[in-house]
Amino acid sequence: MSTGTADTTETQADPSDAEEPESALETARRQLEHAAAHLDVDPGVIERLKHPTTVHRVAVPLEHDDGSVNVYTGYRAQHDDVRGPYKGGLRYHPHVSEEECVGLSMWMTWKCAVMDLPFGGGKGGVVVDPRELSDGERERLTRRFAEELRKFVGPKKDIPAPDMGTDSQTMAWFMDAYSMQEGETIPGVVTGKPPVVGGSEGREEAPGRSVALITREAADYYDRDLDGLTVAVQGYGSVGANAARLLDDWGANVVAVSDTGGAVHDPAGLDTHAVPSFSEEQNAVTNHDAPETLEDGNDILELDVDVLIPAAVGNVITTENAADVEADLVVEGANGPTTFAADAILAERGVEVIPDILANAGGVTVSYFEWLQDINRRTWSLERVNDELESEMLSAWDDVRAEVEERDVTWRDAAYIVALRRIAEAKSVRGLWP
Ligand code: GLU
Repeated sequence: MSTGTADTTETQADPSDAEEPESALETARRQLEHAAAHLDVDPGVIERLKHPTTVHRVAVPLEHDDGSVNVYTGYRAQHDDVRGPYKGGLRYHPHVSEEECVGLSMWMTWKCAVMDLPFGGGKGGVVVDPRELSDGERERLTRRFAEELRKFVGPKKDIPAPDMGTDSQTMAWFMDAYSMQEGETIPGVVTGKPPVVGGSEGREEAPGRSVALITREAADYYDRDLDGLTVAVQGYGSVGANAARLLDDWGANVVAVSDTGGAVHDPAGLDTHAVPSFSEEQNAVTNHDAPETLEDGNDILELDVDVLIPAAVGNVITTENAADVEADLVVEGANGPTTFAADAILAERGVEVIPDILANAGGVTVSYFEWLQDINRRTWSLERVNDELESEMLSAWDDVRAEVEERDVTWRDAAYIVALRRIAEAKSVRGLWP
C-alpha cells in the first residue's frame, strides 16, 4: 500500500510492487506500541491513540468533460486534536483508502507534537488518479470534495494541505469553494496555497529544506563533514529535489537521484540544479547526462553512499532490501518509507534512521507559519520563514537527540517519545470526558 511523500508529487515506482504489504496503519500502530514501551504513560492514553477520533467518508460525484459522470470516494481521517485542530494533507491517488488515511493521520499527530506545533493529526484524500483528469475536472472534483468536507474542516477545526497528487492550485480551489459557501474569505482553512491568496513564502520548499537541515545536523552529530558527504536521493519531486539541491549547495556530494523513469549516478557528484525535478519535467532525471544510468530507480536504495534519502513513496525499504542498504544514515523524506520490520533490520545493522516525523516536518511547520499569517493578515518574508523554520527544526532535533542520548534508543523511538510525552500530558490534564 502506498504511503508516500510529505508533499505534493509522486515520483517513484508503484509501491504495490513491494514484497511486504504492510499498511501505513499497521506500521503506525506497531511503531506506537514499540515507542510506548519506553515511556511511563497511562496505557489508556496509548489505547486511545491507536484509534482515530473520526473518519469521514464522502461520495464525490464528478461530471467529466465529455458529460459522463463518475462518483469518486473521498476520506478525511481525524486522528487526534488534543493539542489543537487536526492538520494534514489531502492526497489524490488510486491507492488512497480509509486505512491509509488513518495511518497517515496518526503520523501527522506525532509530527505536529515532535515539532511542538499547536495541531493534532489529520489526513484525507480521494481515490482517483489525478493524471487522468483535465484541469477543469480536477477543479470540479476539488470544489465538490471541499463542499462535502465543509462541515468538518475550518481554521479552528481541521486544516488540510497539499500531499501526493495535490498542489497549491488544489488548495486555492478548496479555499475558494469553502470561502464562497461560508460567505467570507477564509484563507486559514487550508495551507500550502499560492502566496497571492494567503500562502506562505517558502512553503513549497519547506519539507525538502527540513530534510536537508536534519541531514546536516545528523552528519555533524556523527562527526561527518558535510563537505564531500555522499548522498543518494530516491524521488525527485518537491521533497527530494529541494533536499538534494540544498545539500549540494552546502557542499555535500549528491551522487545519485531517481524517479519512476530510473536513476542517474555520478560518483563525482551530480549538478542537482541541472537534473530536472518532477515539476520541471516529469520523470525525466535519466535525460540528464551522467556516467551511469540505473533502469530501476529502486536500485538507488542499495548504493554505497553515506546518506540515503528516500523521498518518494512509502514502504520502499522492506525486509527484501533492508540488508542491502549500504548507507550509514537514512533520512526519511517520504512518509513511511521504512516498514516496521525493515526498521529493525537497519537498527541491528547499525544503520541510523532519522524518521519522517522529524525529517520532513518542515512542510507542516511552514503550514503553521502560513496559518499564523492568515489569522493575523500579515505576511512574513522568505528570510523570516526560513530562519524560523531552521530554529524550529534545530529545537526539535535537540529534543529528539536528548532522548537518543539519555535512553539509548533509535531516532524513531526518540521522536515518538518526545511526541507521545507531549500528547499524553495534554490528554491527562484535559482528562477523559464525557
Ligand atoms: N502533507 C504534508 C505532510 O505529510 C504537510 C501537511 C501539512 O502541511 O499540513 O507532512
